Amino acid sequence: MEILERIKTIYPSKEAEVCIKAYDFAKKAHENQKRASGEEYFIHPCFVAGILMDLGLDSATVSAAFLHDVIEDTPVSEGDIKKEFGDEILELVLGVTKLEKIEFTSREEEQAENFRKIFVAMAKDIRVIIIKLADRLHNMRSLNFLSIERQQRMARETLEVYAPLAGRLGISRVKCELEDLCLKYLEPDFYEYLTTNIDERLKEGEGFVEKVVNEVSEMLKESKIVGEVFGRRKHLYSIYKKMKERGKTLEQIYDLVAIRVIVNSVDECYEVFGKIHHRWKPVPGRIKDYIATPKPNMYSSLHTTVVTNFGKFFEIQIRTYEMNHSAEYGIAAHWKYKENKKEAGSLDTRLSWIREVMEWQGGLKDSREFLNSIKGDIYSSEVLVFTPKGDVISLPKEATPLDFAYNIHSAVGNRCVGVKVNNKMVPLNYTLSVGDIVEIITSQNSKGPSWDWLKIVKSPSARVKIRQFFKKEMKEENVKTGKSMLEGEAKRRGYNLNDILTEEAFLVLSSKMSFNSQDEMYASIGYGAVTVNQVLVKLIDYYRKNQPQQEITKFYTTSKHQSSGVTVKGMQGILVRFAGCCNPVPGDDIVGFISRGHGVTVHRKDCPNLKNAEDGRLIEVNWANKDSSIYNAGIKVIGTSQIEILTSVASCVAQLKLEIVSTNGRVDNRTKQVIVDFNIRLNDKHELESLITKIRQDSKIIDVYRTANS
Ligand code: MN
Repeated sequence: MEILERIKTIYPSKEAEVCIKAYDFAKKAHENQKRASGEEYFIHPCFVAGILMDLGLDSATVSAAFLHDVIEDTPVSEGDIKKEFGDEILELVLGVTKLEKIEFTSREEEQAENFRKIFVAMAKDIRVIIIKLADRLHNMRSLNFLSIERQQRMARETLEVYAPLAGRLGISRVKCELEDLCLKYLEPDFYEYLTTNIDERLKEGEGFVEKVVNEVSEMLKESKIVGEVFGRRKHLYSIYKKMKERGKTLEQIYDLVAIRVIVNSVDECYEVFGKIHHRWKPVPGRIKDYIATPKPNMYSSLHTTVVTNFGKFFEIQIRTYEMNHSAEYGIAAHWKYKENKKEAGSLDTRLSWIREVMEWQGGLKDSREFLNSIKGDIYSSEVLVFTPKGDVISLPKEATPLDFAYNIHSAVGNRCVGVKVNNKMVPLNYTLSVGDIVEIITSQNSKGPSWDWLKIVKSPSARVKIRQFFKKEMKEENVKTGKSMLEGEAKRRGYNLNDILTEEAFLVLSSKMSFNSQDEMYASIGYGAVTVNQVLVKLIDYYRKNQPQQEITKFYTTSKHQSSGVTVKGMQGILVRFAGCCNPVPGDDIVGFISRGHGVTVHRKDCPNLKNAEDGRLIEVNWANKDSSIYNAGIKVIGTSQIEILTSVASCVAQLKLEIVSTNGRVDNRTKQVIVDFNIRLNDKHELESLITKIRQDSKIIDVYRTANS
């Protein structure tokens, strides 16, 4: 209840209403849930909200704090929160929920840095990070109810990721408390030793600290400066670090307590500074002017260590109230001092404020570094993603899963057959974003990378590895096989490879398929990286579109084939062939295509390959009346089992006294349906139609239709 009273005193009534609504909403949602301590779960979001109020955050942040575990831990949905609280609060809650899913566990130093970057980049709105820090702070405070193993894991993660992040944002109050709590769980003996002994040592020297405080207070009075002077024990973790890093004993550390002087203006800071140096001798190298040159996290203060008359050292920090507030609240101080300014919620607007402060304070280089470090990857050229085990992989911006696979190992890249991002299948050219968890699916049966991959990958190293693979496969044998496959298939379709594989045609083809040479193309057909048809379709396409008009008569007079069953209007003695792509049969509407060196090719009028043909090259053709010619037609039959399809079609074909010329079946990986192409020998269109009708009557057949390309 107390927290509701605080909300009412801190925020304007309208904002307070929203906070209280969030309080009630979350309380209801978490009803009956308990924490590890056995307490009501709801006290956790309350404490988090309280910490954020202490830090001076705005009312939206506090509302979001009440709601921060609601989506993750209760049946409440995004839509519910959007409806009740609007987009700003929803975005904050979603941000925290998203970060919840990252597990940092124990990492090496550089990895920890990557995690901090991911964290910041994913948060987008810096308030999300501050909520997360407050969440972690309260969890660390109530850590004693968890198993020792979990305590240590959480403390290590906090020490490596969260405490430095709080430091980076300048929220030293949170940073120090987090660090001390980490020490308590990671080095319990040391912690125990420090707490008991420091108190003792402070008791011994208490009179001394008091004496110095009094003397400095006198100085202020003499100079008519209003301010505060007090002694402040340094936080345990910083003492621990000093002892560990410099190999000192507790007795050798003289600045267990710092004297802090807080005044109203910068001028007064320097005045007090001068007076102190006048009274006591400063220790060389220990005078720090962080007002003239603030620390990268915008910490400003004057520091000096002096020697007293009795030979004792002590540290004095002099700063204004505003500096003191910034030092403890860091970036969070922003909301306190700029409360009245309405600002857009974008990260950039929020960060521009820091930029202003820092440029004004003159630390331009540092400010850039600072900005870059807290903005993480958003504007940098890398994208950090996770392996399923939680390792961080750095890739160039806009990288794809293939870049990821080759980054892991060439073998992983070469055998990649699919990819899951955040547990969902995605295409190989998917653009990865920061924080994605990427899982590469490999197969021993993979034929290796495809040439298209060269266009997908963004990292030079992946490109090199793919090329290496192709180089290895560039064996003479593969080149030979590929070439004869391509020649054979071209011939089957009625083309001469030499005609269609011109230099320009190859240039166009390689721009699409990334072949460096014709041999590369043959080789990749040879070992199966691309299919013959993939190449051939493009070549034929180019050929059709780019054929110059020809004088027809020149080519066709020598033909001996006249009994093909088709007459060409206005011409006799012309070589007539049936197009392999659509296999016309008598009864079909047909049209002739005047092809170079091959006379007239007869296509079905609806053949898709004729779509782009120039009118001048099409010629009217007709079925001759009397005809005993035999034709091949293609049909595609879809079912669930190959045996069923074959049995059904074979029996229909037999009943109609037709003949199966060839079959070719495959399974559609996506639908799991079996698809079988048949080439049927028959006399005319009617026979074909009755065959299709007959097959269709079989209930085991899903579909059957005539193919344009058989
Ligand atoms: Mn929480």
